[in-house]
Amino acid sequence: MKECSLLYAGGRYVLPPLPYAESALEPVLDAETLCLHHDRHHAAYVAGANAALERLHAVAEGELPESAAREAAHDLSFHLAGHFLHTLYWKSLSPEPLQVPQGALAEALCGEFGSYQGFLRVFRGVALGVQGSGWAMLAAERASGRPVVLGLQRHEEGLVPGLCPLLVCDVWEHAYYLRYHNNRASYVEGIVDRLNWRMAEERWENFNRQHDHVCR
Ligand code: MN
Repeated sequence: MKECSLLYAGGRYVLPPLPYAESALEPVLDAETLCLHHDRHHAAYVAGANAALERLHAVAEGELPESAAREAAHDLSFHLAGHFLHTLYWKSLSPEPLQVPQGALAEALCGEFGSYQGFLRVFRGVALGVQGSGWAMLAAERASGRPVVLGLQRHEEGLVPGLCPLLVCDVWEHAYYLRYHNNRASYVEGIVDRLNWRMAEERWENFNRQHDHVCR
């Protein structure tokens, strides 16, 4: 199924199913955390994006004052980024432990960070360093064609236009609090062992095919 039809169908944003069973990531992530995170939190971002769009349409129709547009647009950024990031987060995690990057992406990470361990030091450092709620993201940057690691606040603050996200790690407390309490470091350590490098490699290859076409 095309990725976009998982995100949007029938004129509305929709909640895609988890790509595995709720218990598939045990013991790193427990089924209760995964269920709440997907069925309540991710679902709320989908609902929030649809509600924000409706308010923007109401402003366009003259049913809400123009002064309501700013807050509705702000809400759309927050909820839509939350929807897209969570969809990628589920796919960023693998039931198979201890995967490592291979092929062209492994070479690019070594070129940028010296080694896979060097990448992990940066990724873990960014994930632990996000203040409050946010994300760590590995992405491909279009102008340079390089892999970059970003830290996002909330969902939408810190995103760079044109980036192609490869992997994300949610560091909002709702992602880990039931099992790890306030120990974000242990959660991130567990996540690092479950990163879905096969998906990231596929996204990196797709990015490079487009990049060769557009930028070179
Ligand atoms: Mn989350």
